[in-house]
Amino acid sequence: MRYAILSDIHANYDALEAVLKELEKENIDEYVCVGDIVGYGAEPDRCVDRIKKLVVACVAGNHDFATIEKTNIEFFNTYAKEATLWTRNKLSEEDKQYLKDLKLVEDVGDFTVVHGTLYAPALFDYIQTTFDAYLSLQVLKSNLCFVGHSHVPISFFLDDAVTYSVEPEIDLKPGVKAIINVGSVGQPRDDNPKAAYAIYDTEQSKVWVRRAEYDIEAAAKKIMDAGLPEILGERLKYGR
Ligand code: ZN
Repeated sequence: MRYAILSDIHANYDALEAVLKELEKENIDEYVCVGDIVGYGAEPDRCVDRIKKLVVACVAGNHDFATIEKTNIEFFNTYAKEATLWTRNKLSEEDKQYLKDLKLVEDVGDFTVVHGTLYAPALFDYIQTTFDAYLSLQVLKSNLCFVGHSHVPISFFLDDAVTYSVEPEIDLKPGVKAIINVGSVGQPRDDNPKAAYAIYDTEQSKVWVRRAEYDIEAAAKKIMDAGLPEILGERLKYGR
């Protein structure tokens, strides 16, 4: 089986389309979404509609739940808050219902999917250190978990100790549990503005984190035209 794993699309339809176009050539059997379909970008409606028809499973991100008031936006920064309020008005009741029904954790084939962490998925904490990863690896029942949320691709492995790697080609080894952050389709934050996504090949036991070029200017202009904070378009150009 070949899976495409997409996370943190953040209402950036231009980035999503570019990624899906690259994936057309990859013999993908199933698509999986790691959450945050909406928030920040100007086309949440188009992104929800595209994702819900495409994926076999999607988990909830903090922005998805914030949009339908399932999590508090008190601790969101000003721009995230403003984008959330804007997104609430932009989505249909049907799209909101789709976000409402998303689960925090999903098991797909031989792997697990969660937006933030496995030890407390509803808190939407970040896995950024080997210790953070250790806490989730401890409760991971399968051997592989895909996460998002930080918008930075990185992989953690539990062998004798917890190690990490930022290599884009990841070999999964028997007996070594792995947590892989697939980066962000719609708002990368690792100083690389190209859209990030991953492919998981079960036969080869390999994961690749790929990058797709897309029309960043177009996405930024839509953010401006929508009256969303200008910085949300600007940051796309720098990948941070
Ligand atoms: Zn996100």
